[in-house]
Amino acid sequence: MQDYSSLGLRVGIEIHQQLDTRHKLFCYCPTIQRDAEESNFEFFRYLRSKRSEMGEVDRAAKEEVARSKKFIYKAYDTTCLVEADEEPPREVNREALQITILIAKMLNMEVVDEVHMMRKIVIDGSNTTGFQRTALVAFDGHIDCNGKRIGIATLCLEEEACRKIEDRGDEVVYSLDRLGIPLAEIGTMPDITSPKEAKDVAAKLGMILRSTGRVKRGLGTIRQDVNISIRDGARVEIKGVQTLDILDKIVEYEVLRQLSLLKIKDELKKRGASVVNKVFDVTDVFANTKSKVIKRAECVKAIMLKGFAGLVGKEIQPGRRLGTEFADIAKTFGLGGIFHTDELPAYGVSKEEVEALRARVGAGNRDAVIVAAGKATRVENTLIRIVERAEYCLAGVPEETRKANEDGTTSYLRPLPGAARMYPETDVPAVKITPEMLKVEIPELIEERARRYTKTYSLSHDLAYVMADSAFYHLFEEFAEKIPATTVARVLHTAPAELRRDGINTDVLEEEQFRMVLELIEEGRIAKEGADEALKILCENPRATKDEIVDRIGSASDLDSFIAKLVEEKKDFIAEKGANAFKPLMGLVMKEFRGKVDGKVVAEKLNRAIKSMLQA
Ligand SMILES: [Zn+2]
Repeated sequence: MQDYSSLGLRVGIEIHQQLDTRHKLFCYCPTIQRDAEESNFEFFRYLRSKRSEMGEVDRAAKEEVARSKKFIYKAYDTTCLVEADEEPPREVNREALQITILIAKMLNMEVVDEVHMMRKIVIDGSNTTGFQRTALVAFDGHIDCNGKRIGIATLCLEEEACRKIEDRGDEVVYSLDRLGIPLAEIGTMPDITSPKEAKDVAAKLGMILRSTGRVKRGLGTIRQDVNISIRDGARVEIKGVQTLDILDKIVEYEVLRQLSLLKIKDELKKRGASVVNKVFDVTDVFANTKSKVIKRAECVKAIMLKGFAGLVGKEIQPGRRLGTEFADIAKTFGLGGIFHTDELPAYGVSKEEVEALRARVGAGNRDAVIVAAGKATRVENTLIRIVERAEYCLAGVPEETRKANEDGTTSYLRPLPGAARMYPETDVPAVKITPEMLKVEIPELIEERARRYTKTYSLSHDLAYVMADSAFYHLFEEFAEKIPATTVARVLHTAPAELRRDGINTDVLEEEQFRMVLELIEEGRIAKEGADEALKILCENPRATKDEIVDRIGSASDLDSFIAKLVEEKKDFIAEKGANAFKPLMGLVMKEFRGKVDGKVVAEKLNRAIKSMLQA
């Protein structure tokens, strides 16, 4: 267990939450997700390095241009020319602004007098304009988490980026459906001092956001970025954490990575290590290679790291080495990866080739050689960047933007953007905040609602929280007055969860369907035990009427008694024929129930009845 306070750990979280508005932030398109297959039009762009109005070229932007990628965008009948950047943006969506003000109040923040849109340079192609529009709405707030006050520095209203569909290395495919969905961005102060606290603060902020009832739910609708630093380390921004479960692990692993890099720095200094600032062409060394990757490459180049032997292969996060950091860079430049001498000979590269390689670049046994193969300019740009990264090993931890992997480790994404990233958006008029707009009603927090449910309906703590956090909590409250609360919770939560476990798609169940089942129980037309079956029927056919449901559940119970009676009557026949009794009996049941009950259901039930008869 690390002593995080002695390491000087500081963590800040940035939460991006999609708002549940009728239309997008700068146009009137709906905020719905589309299937990329439904795209009716596509176009492409290349990124040019655009100077900001301050006249500097951002270092992150410069690197992206060096990667020279083609960006393809998929459009739909639910997107317009604003998303395609063929028409200027409309005025700021007032509904989105109002929700953001509500969030500001819930985070005890100061709202600005006037909202001004800014342009933040975006360099990965995820926005057709090359920038993201963002506006500061509130500042200087706080929340209390486990008795500790955590500062909330800023709250911005911004536009969501495109959804990435495919990364083909030198081409990236984006979907326009997500571009322009309003997003609230909450940035905490770096007041968080342990991995667990990071997770708790993010959970609390998520709970507050959902308490508004005005935010989108489900995977991908909320994302966390985490800023992490330790003393003597550097500020590293980790992007795109989609689930809370790994947030503590991400912090833990980043601390581990920074400590490992600091150890490597000390060792390199002790060895008097250095990086030779030169890219060698070594294509001919591999003229007869058995390595498939190298063989099909247009050219092979190498760089020499003096005194690095053994350290390139050193683990810095579980399953990730210093060499993996170099390979990450190669990947962002569209190459498959790199080879390094700490792991060679291997992958079809022979001992003789390694010796020839070392001789060519003048490397001894204490040095490391990094090899990249592919298109000439891509390989050259990649290795120039890796030289820079390797040089930084002698200084310590580089400031950079990284992306979260599913296991809690992270991969290099790009340099941390410089301060030249923001400039004013002149196409969108500023919005003055009036006293009227600040009059918002603060909703009950989900955690307070859960406490109320435990008391009023004597539900368990967990079930009360699930109901309070449900998008259908108002249905719960309405029906818990009329039928037992546990039955309502079964319909809204437990039964759908079980259906999902059985592989049934319950996404079609909306308020209308839940209400129908709850009313059927309230009206006494189906028993509470029939709830699961009723929901299952609605999953298959969301438009089923109440009468149809009652009919089908009725026939299902008739079917059960018919099968029970039949199997009892044909006991001897079953004993004699065994499993072969199924076919003739199936014929008898279907004669009675054809058109009323699904044949598959009949077969299942009959099979089960015959089996239990045989086992008896
Ligand atoms: Zn639009």
